[in-house]
Amino acid sequence: MSGTARPPAQIFIAAERLLDCVHCGLCQQACPTYLELGTEMDSPRGRIYLMRALSDGTLALTPEVVRHLDLCLGCRACETACPSGVHYGRMIEGARALVAEQYRRRGRERWQRRWLEWVFPYPRRLRALMAPVRLAQRLGVWPLVTKLLPVAAMIPPADGAAPLPQLVPAEGRERRRVGLLAGCVARVWFAQTNEASARVLTRNGCSVVVPRAQTCCGALSLHNGSRDAGLEFARRTIDAFPADLDAIIANAAGCGALLREYGELLADDPAYAERAREFSAKVRDISEWLVALGADAPPAVTPLRVAYHDACHLAHGQQVCEQPRALLRLIPGVDLVELPEADLCCGSAGSYNLLEPAMAARLQARKVRNIESTHAQCVAAANPGCMIQIQAGLRRRKLNIPVVHPVDLLDRAYRGLPLLG
Ligand code: SF4
Ligand code: SF4
Repeated sequence: MSGTARPPAQIFIAAERLLDCVHCGLCQQACPTYLELGTEMDSPRGRIYLMRALSDGTLALTPEVVRHLDLCLGCRACETACPSGVHYGRMIEGARALVAEQYRRRGRERWQRRWLEWVFPYPRRLRALMAPVRLAQRLGVWPLVTKLLPVAAMIPPADGAAPLPQLVPAEGRERRRVGLLAGCVARVWFAQTNEASARVLTRNGCSVVVPRAQTCCGALSLHNGSRDAGLEFARRTIDAFPADLDAIIANAAGCGALLREYGELLADDPAYAERAREFSAKVRDISEWLVALGADAPPAVTPLRVAYHDACHLAHGQQVCEQPRALLRLIPGVDLVELPEADLCCGSAGSYNLLEPAMAARLQARKVRNIESTHAQCVAAANPGCMIQIQAGLRRRKLNIPVVHPVDLLDRAYRGLPLLG
């Protein structure tokens, strides 16, 4: 492992990037917080004004300024909408690093952030914390717990899938050899989606390497402003995967978007710059990879009306919108319905729903209303955070609509199982 000297935080608010914004406002209507609040400082343009003033030293990091920055979901819908190619995601990451270094948060807020960073990137810690939760779920007292502690309703039910072996060989002739990012939260709460991903990949001729040494990708730390910790996770992830793979496959949108940025993030690290660039060039979302490979169509299934939610870090962070839909259409019997505001954030946004529950709840309710309008029997989403957030919202409305990963559906169709198990 190597480290680089840390530049002052202001360098992360790259001045030339801030100047890319011409303040046209064309991004405003794409911004979830602007749509909900209607205030300029809670819009992309307003936040860029703030970042510019922070960068040139004409504005101090007051609680009000930090509040406007904290309310940003980092969903990057503004990037998709921006005709000037403003790379807002890197700007807000820089601003968050500045806040983390130079602004002292008060009591609960500070500890909450530290706790999240201490738990979520480490599957063993998360698993240990989940033990009493699992027990309560198995004993049937979970509904009572969620009544007493509403935030607990977010925790998914027991998964029970075993960890994947380090190599899952291709079925039949090997066409490609790929690495699978197992994720940190996903490994604990969505192990069945990792299993399904491996099965679907091997079914389509890919041998799947799942390195045991892989860690969190660093997204949670970087989005929290902990740049050093995030970059260290990035280096460890690069170290974990063999260099001769054809692709690195991500099935979680948030992780995939960050893996694609390793090249840029580690560009100044002489020991990792080249490897990071090569690594990022190989990153593919699983739907993108399967569609490019020409995945086999499964046999016909019982008709199912499915609405697809675009995870922000897939649609806006990676510009992957068509491929998950194409994968769903590959399943004969799936009736794919378009969800109004499909690419508007559901409020999950990494740990945002825990840190900013009020705004997250507004966006969750908005997403649920849109889902209800489609009369879908099932929602497909390609990011664990979105799946948890939307499922919790549907449950709150007492709607029996499961939220699943597109790969889970494809896997069940290949195996001849009913799509909703
Ligand atoms: S971010 Fe882009 S769309 Fe938004 S105000 Fe700036 S230039 Fe216009
Ligand atoms: S990242 Fe999302 S919430 Fe933040 S300014 Fe852009 S569109 Fe708005």
